[in-house]
Amino acid sequence: MTTLADNLLRLEDSIATACRAAGRPRREVELMAVSKTFPAETILEAVALGLTLFGENRVQEWAQKSLEICPKSQRTEFHLIGHLQSNKAARAVELFDGIDSLDSLRLAERLNEASAKLGKRLPVLIEVKLSPEETKSGIDPDSDDAVKLFEALPHFTSLEARGLMTIAPWGAPDEVTRACFRSLREWRDRWAREHPRLNLDVLSMGMSGDFALAIGEGATRIRVGTALFGKRPRPATGLVP
Ligand SMILES: *Cc1c(COP(=O)(O)O)cnc(C)c1O
Repeated sequence: MTTLADNLLRLEDSIATACRAAGRPRREVELMAVSKTFPAETILEAVALGLTLFGENRVQEWAQKSLEICPKSQRTEFHLIGHLQSNKAARAVELFDGIDSLDSLRLAERLNEASAKLGKRLPVLIEVKLSPEETKSGIDPDSDDAVKLFEALPHFTSLEARGLMTIAPWGAPDEVTRACFRSLREWRDRWAREHPRLNLDVLSMGMSGDFALAIGEGATRIRVGTALFGKRPRPATGLVP
């Protein structure tokens, strides 16, 4: 058995344990394989093992790798989970099946425009910044910017809101991490009440080191890189090492 197959078995075991502890069915938690920095052949190996949802953090990197994965199987989805500059929005819309890191009104406008041009309805998650770390991206949930973004979203007819995403503070004690995940769920509940036209069902939270805590706090999608693929061959540019 390959290392990847081995890792997947172990990971599925831990996910099942976390789901049982939380009294939640396994099917409520989607596994996103974070393939950033790994080559296309690793992704193909993961697809062969049955993984269907992938996260990449750079437009340029995925533009290269996606060439080696064509024709893409119908069942697989590749989402952007890293920060996206507005000037790359059009390219990102061409390349990705979803943007899980929407963090400004300006970016939403650009994505909506580009999706409309392609006749595409683009699933998006709003990335929320819940930790004071300077390096974290995402929208401050208490800000006017957040209010404006949520008011505008239902009018962007080529965007399809699906939920929220967050990254927990790096290396924080479990209690702090857990509080961060709980806070994302509470913001979701509040925004869902205030904006009944938006679908905010997805809570994308939890990575290799903290997905069990996230499942306990209601994650519906966990984003796992290292625990599946091993240590990244080079540091990913962007926020998470
Ligand atoms: C890299 C990354 C992950 C995966 O991190 P691991 O600790 O390797 O599981 C998840 N989410 C985001 C946004 C990332 O950039």
